[in-house]
Amino acid sequence: MTDTHVVIIGAGLAGLGAAAACRDAGRRAVVLEASGRVGGRAWTDHPKALGGVWFDMGAVWFHDAEHNPMVPIAQAAGDTLLRSDEIRKERTFIGDRIATEAELNAYAQAWPHYEAAAESIIAAEGDVPLAEVTRRLSDDPWAATIEAWEGPVICAVDADRFSTLDWRRNALGGSNLVPDGGIGAFVQRRLTSGLDIRLHTPVVRVRWGGPNGQVIVETASGSITAEACIVTVSTGVLGSGSLVFDPALPASVTEAVHALPMGLAMKVALRATGPDRLDLPLHCSVDRILERQGEALMPFQCWPFGRDYVQGWIGGSVAWDLAKAGEAAAVDYALSYLRRAFGGRVDGLFAGGASLVTHWDADPWVRGAYCYAIPGSALARDRLAEPVADGHLMFAGEACHIGFAGTVAGAWISGQSAATQALAAIGG
Ligand SMILES: Cc1cc2nc3c(=O)[nH]c(=O)nc-3n(C[C@H](O)[C@H](O)[C@H](O)COP(=O)(O)OP(=O)(O)OC[C@H]3O[C@@H](n4cnc5c(N)ncnc54)[C@H](O)[C@@H]3O)c2cc1C
Repeated sequence: MTDTHVVIIGAGLAGLGAAAACRDAGRRAVVLEASGRVGGRAWTDHPKALGGVWFDMGAVWFHDAEHNPMVPIAQAAGDTLLRSDEIRKERTFIGDRIATEAELNAYAQAWPHYEAAAESIIAAEGDVPLAEVTRRLSDDPWAATIEAWEGPVICAVDADRFSTLDWRRNALGGSNLVPDGGIGAFVQRRLTSGLDIRLHTPVVRVRWGGPNGQVIVETASGSITAEACIVTVSTGVLGSGSLVFDPALPASVTEAVHALPMGLAMKVALRATGPDRLDLPLHCSVDRILERQGEALMPFQCWPFGRDYVQGWIGGSVAWDLAKAGEAAAVDYALSYLRRAFGGRVDGLFAGGASLVTHWDADPWVRGAYCYAIPGSALARDRLAEPVADGHLMFAGEACHIGFAGTVAGAWISGQSAATQALAAIGG
């Protein structure tokens, strides 16, 4: 006797994708979620510090909108998708001045050159740390900045720890859309219908490999027996040991988890105390050309959607250090970064104003922003997605997708794929 066909651990995008696939196949699924809300790293809040406007603490964009499965769902429901790329303005600084048109052209052209160099190194030598690509381009004045974007900023990891192959396998193209009202709100509104989700129910132990592949999942409020289990928690949670597997997981799974550690990305939002807008247009991205490899890059989105705050983004080891140092240190860091472009004017504008710092490092149910593959281990994503116990135990989530790794879309697709495999395993 089982309580349900499939038990799913986690109500983030992967868990919801898996549950939706079970629902659509007419099979019973129970989703157990440790926290008090669905969405996981897709979380829209209305922080008082920012005047109560919607603010995505984690994911913001539907990347590669032309291929993103969230886009047709939003469109079918009549949701407004904000064309963030089209309304965005850009300012790129070199030192304390704005880059010239010629410099911007050269910077734009350096990007495909960097990507091509990475691909030819992989083809000739196999995987290398991303930092190695930059070292090979030591004459290229833009390479350090591109490395900082692709490593710490976008992938939340320093380039010397990051697999170039993982980067190339998951490089996203296309446009970026923002669901009006926030991604977390979209997820709650559009992706939970008809699902059996139990909040405040952390799973402490998964007893797998029972008769006919049966799995017993233990929580503080009791156990659930299922024919299959889909685990969608982050690799940070899996690596922490807070979720016990009995028997222990096969080495192929634990090795994959260790090869996919969590990176950290931190958002620091500063609300203006006056009308000054730093001579920037609304919805303006502020970028900086770095002088040397390894220097930290903190790009800012200024006055997003016409709002009265700027939002800095820092990733990799600087983000982990600031997370340890505390919110005041993160705010100081953001202010000093802004001062390099705008001088003392930022002190007048933001001094005493409200601020917000995100803390994905401190969320015990996530433990970072999203994972990356260490050099030489890009295939760990494929291995983590492989069926265990003939498909009665599956892993899913942003870590398990290739192409959309580290994104909402990747988590959703991987959850759906894990459910398809689990349902095939249980048959009937
Ligand atoms: C700052 C930031 C910015 C981002 N920006 C973007 C973006 O713009 N676009 C994009 O596509 N992606 C973005 N992402 C990534 C995206 O949010 C994630 O890839 C995706 O949401 C992960 O979904 P998931 O289901 O794999 O994991 P999660 O969302 O982590 O879901 C796992 C769930 O499991 C729960 N859980 C953990 N342990 C247990 C347990 N023991 N028992 C029960 N439940 C448990 C957690 O509470 C969580 O709800 C961003 C992420 C961050 C942090």
